[in-house]
Amino acid sequence: MPRPSDVRNDSLVNAADLAATGSRLERTYSSSDLPRLAEAGVLGASTLQASFRFSQYEGHPAVDGTLVGRVSLTCQRCMGTVEIEIDERFGVLIVGADRADEPGGYEPIVADTARLDLRWLVEDQALLALPLVARHADERCGELNEEPVEREASARNVQRPFQNLRDMMRKR
Ligand SMILES: [Zn+2]
Repeated sequence: MPRPSDVRNDSLVNAADLAATGSRLERTYSSSDLPRLAEAGVLGASTLQASFRFSQYEGHPAVDGTLVGRVSLTCQRCMGTVEIEIDERFGVLIVGADRADEPGGYEPIVADTARLDLRWLVEDQALLALPLVARHADERCGELNEEPVEREASARNVQRPFQNLRDMMRKR
């Protein structure tokens, strides 16, 4: 039965084969392909470009990837829309069972190597790349809504505006 060539089909790849041949792939996803981003507060339509370089590491398929794009989130200071640049690198190792270590610095993920879903991988990595607290870089964005004293206090609390879950995991 003919099927429409939707991005989901195109997303399923054989990671073992691609690793054996050292292949590279590129994919572009829109936020409508990545519903978990909307659940995490990403607004409207945005596009993420992903590249994947496959290799073998300790007998498992490894993926070195990049994720580039721009997403809209709600600024937690002024509740307006803030555009966040995503420019991330990731490295995952596809393993058959849960493991706690990170061989070669790769984050182990459990997936079927013959049917790796790149869309799912991108969605996962994009969630890790989102800032924990989205805010405009200019801390005066919330000026109209806050008392001056509070604003100073909150300005001191601004740590790294782009700190995300991945940074937290790296620091562990
Ligand atoms: Zn703001």
